[in-house]
Amino acid sequence: MRIAECGQVAAPFPRPMRSGTESLVDCTDSMTGGLLQMVPPGKPAVSFHTLGCRLNQSESASLGAAFYSVGYRVVDETASADLAVINTCSVTEQAEAKCRNLIRKILKQNPETFIAVTGCYAQVGVDALRKMPGIDLIAGTEFKMDLPKLVEEVFEGRPPAKRTAPMVFHTPKISRSDFTIESYAAFDQATRPNVKIQDGCDFFCSFCIIPTTRGRERSRKLDDILLETSIWVARGHREIVLTGVNLGNYRSEGEDLADLIDALETIDGLDRIRISSIEPTTVSDRILDRMARGGKLCPYLHLPLQSGSDAVLSAMGRRYTRKEYLEFVRAAMAQVPNLGLGTDVMVGFPGEGEAEFVETLSLVEALPFSYLHVFPFSRRKGTRVTKMDLPPVPSRAIKARSRILCDLSRRRRKEFYSRAIGETVDVLFETRNEEGLFCGLTSNYIRVGVESDGDLSGRVGSVRIEGVIDGLAQGRLIGEVR
Ligand code: SF4
Repeated sequence: MRIAECGQVAAPFPRPMRSGTESLVDCTDSMTGGLLQMVPPGKPAVSFHTLGCRLNQSESASLGAAFYSVGYRVVDETASADLAVINTCSVTEQAEAKCRNLIRKILKQNPETFIAVTGCYAQVGVDALRKMPGIDLIAGTEFKMDLPKLVEEVFEGRPPAKRTAPMVFHTPKISRSDFTIESYAAFDQATRPNVKIQDGCDFFCSFCIIPTTRGRERSRKLDDILLETSIWVARGHREIVLTGVNLGNYRSEGEDLADLIDALETIDGLDRIRISSIEPTTVSDRILDRMARGGKLCPYLHLPLQSGSDAVLSAMGRRYTRKEYLEFVRAAMAQVPNLGLGTDVMVGFPGEGEAEFVETLSLVEALPFSYLHVFPFSRRKGTRVTKMDLPPVPSRAIKARSRILCDLSRRRRKEFYSRAIGETVDVLFETRNEEGLFCGLTSNYIRVGVESDGDLSGRVGSVRIEGVIDGLAQGRLIGEVR
């Protein structure tokens, strides 16, 4: 749904973690390749095709581990497989169309592949999916993480056989209880793995389908999160990204997000904890305090704004006013001066006239964002806004407004990066870019590239920033990479 993503966003699976690190499962140069060698030949193969958000990526990785534990080989998404799991997104109608196209493409390439569809579209689009030829299994949200067990119960180690009609595991009622995840995300190949800590949302913003697709708020048990994180660290990962729908409302057995961070900070070998997108009204003083302390919690907030107009914020059902958002950001910047701050802005929400857009622009200009993600409004069946009597915004205006915000985002990123010129910063390296520079991130989300012949993936180096070219801070390695 993003027509414009005005920033560099890490690819879902940038590259395998660095080789040669100690691991609980024996990975070689590629995690999938390494595990494949551990499974006797003749076992059925499963591939994953993940659309949508970080949460889906994290869940696909856990599902991969669970399929592996019941004897499947996990193969790359481009390889032919006995079973293809399509983990879908339903955030817009375009996202759903993309899911259907992907299913058709997989079936065209290999008509014998057993197709299992799960994720948000399987929850809200079950009727449409039932009618689509070639789908063999549909698992809605409540059954998503049970998929390996469901398949194994039916096929008992044999490659799943195509069906004339899909098996459907679906209920509109989604559990509200705390949860554990039985299989850990062994198949997330990111340098900075996503660790799921929470699911669902109770906020019901008028444009958002997530409370319907993923259900109400619930949290993962703290010990379960610590165990998964320890496994990542034992495998050589230095940073984890805490992932959920409404992370700031993490609550499990009396512990909140700050308590969880305190517990994670005690894990030896973990250098960085990053919070992914978090609702502005849910960031507590205790969270800011931990960022300010300079411990393991990255000084970084991705704080969705959506609009700078009180009228639009109210119609969206957002839980803050323009003034409250502004005051919160100013207080956060005062407490955490090196904070990396990003945001989401939605353009073209019904009723957003030129005056409302100007209010958004002026608020964005007043605040020290280092990048913006710009989303065009997309009307989504089942959301509250579809029942509101608000005038639509012409698509020409949406494109023009997006362009203005994207230009601003580019300028902001350059300014933010440029302020770091002359500083020496720690960079966690991820992957080599097309120009041959090895690139990684600082804790406050500056993407930095250096020249290096070696494989720096998953390692941390001190870098002196010397310039900014094409949205990338460039610098020189100082001393040993560790
Ligand atoms: S806070 Fe609003 S936009 Fe975010 S997931 Fe919840 S309902 Fe959707």
